[in-house]
Formats: sequence, structure tokens, C-alpha cells
Amino acid sequence: MEYAGYVGRFAPSPTGRLHMGSMLSAVASWCDARHAGGTWYVRMEDLDPPREVAGAASDILRTLDAFGLHWDGPVMYQSGRHEAYAEALSQLLDEGRAFGCACTRKLLAGATVYPGHCRSGLRAGQTPRSYRYGMSSGVHGWQDAVQGGQSFVAEELGDFVIKRADGHWAYQLAVVVDDVAQGINAVVRGADLLDSTPRQIALRQALAPAAPAISWAHLPILVNADGQKLSKQTLATPVEADKAPDILVACLSLLGQRCAHEEKVLEMMQGGDVTGILAAAAQGWEMARVPAAPIHSQG
Ligand code: GLU
Ligand code: ZN
Repeated sequence: MEYAGYVGRFAPSPTGRLHMGSMLSAVASWCDARHAGGTWYVRMEDLDPPREVAGAASDILRTLDAFGLHWDGPVMYQSGRHEAYAEALSQLLDEGRAFGCACTRKLLAGATVYPGHCRSGLRAGQTPRSYRYGMSSGVHGWQDAVQGGQSFVAEELGDFVIKRADGHWAYQLAVVVDDVAQGINAVVRGADLLDSTPRQIALRQALAPAAPAISWAHLPILVNADGQKLSKQTLATPVEADKAPDILVACLSLLGQRCAHEEKVLEMMQGGDVTGILAAAAQGWEMARVPAAPIHSQG
């Protein structure tokens, strides 16, 4: 991987406290960035008020801090970025790459992929409820540093929502606009977002054709005994700051990093030295060691 001028980020949604799954993304993206001598931003993806929990954003930042996962520059808050998203939407509409969609939830019920009803324009009397990006046909793929070669055909992705019917900006649009604005060129995140990636690659090329391609690494997801992804919905236990050294070492071990087992690191763990553990982890960081397959976990 080319590491010159590495700019990465951790982009949590403040829908609850950090759990092991989100910690893996934070630790892996931090280590990858620090190993490369790069920049690591934190971006708070607070653009979905109905799903947000009061106090979660500050709790997440406090937790990162307690774990020694220090970020560069100010935290970007998506709630303050509406103008940039509006500009992107009008650029896409002007270029004919996005379209207003009048379909109701009821009309689309049962369709896993958008059937393209409004692609070629709305009929007289119809008004847009949401806005969609028109995916160009063909195969959308990339080489993932953890998951290997990936490809999706446009027909299985469909034209996706970039502004929602409830008036909120869609995650896909906001992520791409902000990744461009922050100069992000490396993304390390959970494999639950794998099918967002071809959409985000297409959107990035449309909005900022001159921006460098992102190098992608999608980490294994953590699953419970039933094979369900650990998430706030499956009541994953939040990580506790007073167990930070143990949790960091556990994350590194799940991420396949050899340093997790080194004696010195275990000593630092016992001494509660998160900074030391992270420094050793960043130095010895090897993305190639991260496993691709889902990991069974209690937490
Ligand atoms: N905010 C998203 C989430 O918490 C992650 C976005 C990303 O890493 O691209 O699931
Ligand atoms: Zn439609």
C-alpha cells in the first residue's frame, strides 16, 4: 500500500456508546494511520436525529480519549454540514446524475433493489419525495486490503437514496462529501459497510473526479453465538474506560496483530499504559494479518 500523505478517519454515529465492534474500527484505523505516519480524524456522523442518543457523541469522544486514541485537528460534525450536502445534491442534479423520486415506501415494499420507476423523470403532478443517485450500469469493484477483490454489479445495487423522504441527508452522500472535504484517502471500517463501498466509489468519482482513489480495508465483523452482528440493536455491551488496556489488547488480538502477545505489551497492559500499548501496536501494525471472516465474540 502507498502510504505517502495518508489521511484516515474514524466516523462513528452517535447512536449509543462504543462497543467492541466499533472499537475494532477505531483501533485498526488509528494503528494504520499512525503506522503510516499519517493523519487520523474523527468525524461525528450525527445526521440522523431520530436514531441519535443524547450525550452519545461526547461519550464516544471521552472514551476514545481514555483509550489513548487521540485524533488530529478538530472533530467534524455532520450536523453542521448541510450546506455542503445541498451543494453536492444540486451539482449531481445539474449533471443529470441524480433524480427526484416520488415513490412511496408502500410502492417499493418488497423490492430489494430500486426498480427505477423515476429514473427517466417524474410524471406531471408528481413531486419528489426523496433524491437518488443513478448508478451507471456495469461492474463496480475494488481491491480491499482485508477482504480481497470485491465486485458488485449495478443491477444489484440500484439507484440509491442521497436525500431521504423525511428531509434528512442520506449517509451515503454525507460520507462521500466529507471524505472529499477532509482529504481522506484511506478508509478502515467494518465489513458490514461493504455494499456501501461501490456506491461511495461511484459517488466520489461523480462529485470529485480529481480526488485520489481511497484505499479500502473492511474489518471482520463481530458476531454473537447466533451469528448476528454485534451492534447497538443486538445490545452489544459498551466498552468501559477503566478496562482500556485489556480491551486494547483484546482488539489487537482479534485483529491478528502479533504485538498483542508480546511480553512487553502484556507488561504495559498490567501497568495500565494505553499509550505504550498503542505505540507498540502502531509500530508493528500489519493490515495483512487482519482476518477477513466474521469473528465470534461474547461482548
Ligand atoms: N457512521 C458509520 C457507522 O457508524 C460509519 C461510516 C464509515 O465508516 O464510513 O456505521
Ligand atoms: Zn421513484
